[in-house]
Amino acid sequence: MKIRQLTKEVAKDKKVLVRVDFNVPLKDGKVTDDTRIRAHLDTITLLNQAGAKIAMVSHLGRPKGRFCDDLSMKVIRNEVQKVMGLNVILPGVCCGRKVSTALNDLKSGEILLLENVRFYPEEKSNDQNFAAEMASPFDIFVMDAFSASHRAHASTNAIQKYLPSYAGLLMAKEVEMLSAVSSTPKEPFILILGGAKVSDKIGVIENLMKKASAILIGGGMAYTFLKVKGNPIGNSLFDGEKAEFAGKMLIKAMKLGVDIVLPIDTIVAEGPGSSKGENVLIDSIPEHLMGLDIGKGSVEVFRNYIENAKTILWNGPMGVFEEDPFSMGTREIARIVVKATAEGGALSVVGGGDTAAAVKKFGLADRVSHVSTGGGASLEFCEGKVLPGIAPLLLEQ
Ligand code: AMP
Repeated sequence: MKIRQLTKEVAKDKKVLVRVDFNVPLKDGKVTDDTRIRAHLDTITLLNQAGAKIAMVSHLGRPKGRFCDDLSMKVIRNEVQKVMGLNVILPGVCCGRKVSTALNDLKSGEILLLENVRFYPEEKSNDQNFAAEMASPFDIFVMDAFSASHRAHASTNAIQKYLPSYAGLLMAKEVEMLSAVSSTPKEPFILILGGAKVSDKIGVIENLMKKASAILIGGGMAYTFLKVKGNPIGNSLFDGEKAEFAGKMLIKAMKLGVDIVLPIDTIVAEGPGSSKGENVLIDSIPEHLMGLDIGKGSVEVFRNYIENAKTILWNGPMGVFEEDPFSMGTREIARIVVKATAEGGALSVVGGGDTAAAVKKFGLADRVSHVSTGGGASLEFCEGKVLPGIAPLLLEQ
């Protein structure tokens, strides 16, 4: 996939609107993790070096189309200022005279941060007039919010009709890495899936089954596949609505000669709050307990596949990694992926909010090839969809 990319030349001395994703986690009005802000630093630095007058626009939380103080960009201003090393000016709106005046008055060392774009109901309805109004004071638009690109909103999609548009550096990196794993993976290509829900991963399984050498399934979603195969699963997660799909996928994989690899053992306990678990074979899950992590034997089985991989795409934790007694499987798989990257030369991409949080928690985020900033967006990209925030940036192939 080739997209139109931002360069210093196109941004030189221009008035630039950048769609960022500053939808950071907040607790008691404070930013608890600034990863999403940092992710845009390279794009802002490039624009700044090009002498551009820059305004950033983002959503924050779910204000439901109304102005509210606790989700105003005021809340994150200091954090943005610290990360970007620029004085952040807040016009308090997303369009109109206040924005054009603030933009014209912008001095070197200053940057504009428009108000939370989801304060406007027109944002979510992808309203053309709103997009045109937002675009009017600017010369070009830079789409850098990969994690919001699966939404057809005014600030991600419609706006690109009204300004020459380019992919920012973060967006370009996401598209490059996710295309490399999902469109043209080097073999063996190992897809690792986990997490609680089968439903989120259906499209990815369907799209990538033809390309993958093996699909390793852990996490809560594994139990639906196990039950379909006739394995008793006790109180473990089971998605009745997706059981038929799981059955079909098992048969399709057999026909295609793709291994769907399920856990051979599991760590069981009464629930995620239990203080410890017990490693049991997969066919011996007691009726009143639930599987909350893959067991040690499963880690070894998965290791054999991952160590030989040339391409690895991982989405979804292997267990309830947030709780220590059930974090072993996710941590070990993360270590094996890191080893395959460093020693085996594999291209490894980790996608999805929870998996990204897991590799970060284990201090391994900078030792895989790429950690995607997009949860839903990275899944939809790997389903083979052309995302509405990316479609207008596509160059003819
Ligand atoms: P998802 O959003 O579907 O990727 O699910 C992520 C969540 O799945 C994480 O918060 C994990 O704690 C949870 N999870 C992983 N494995 C299990 C399991 N065996 N049982 C229940 N929850 C799980």
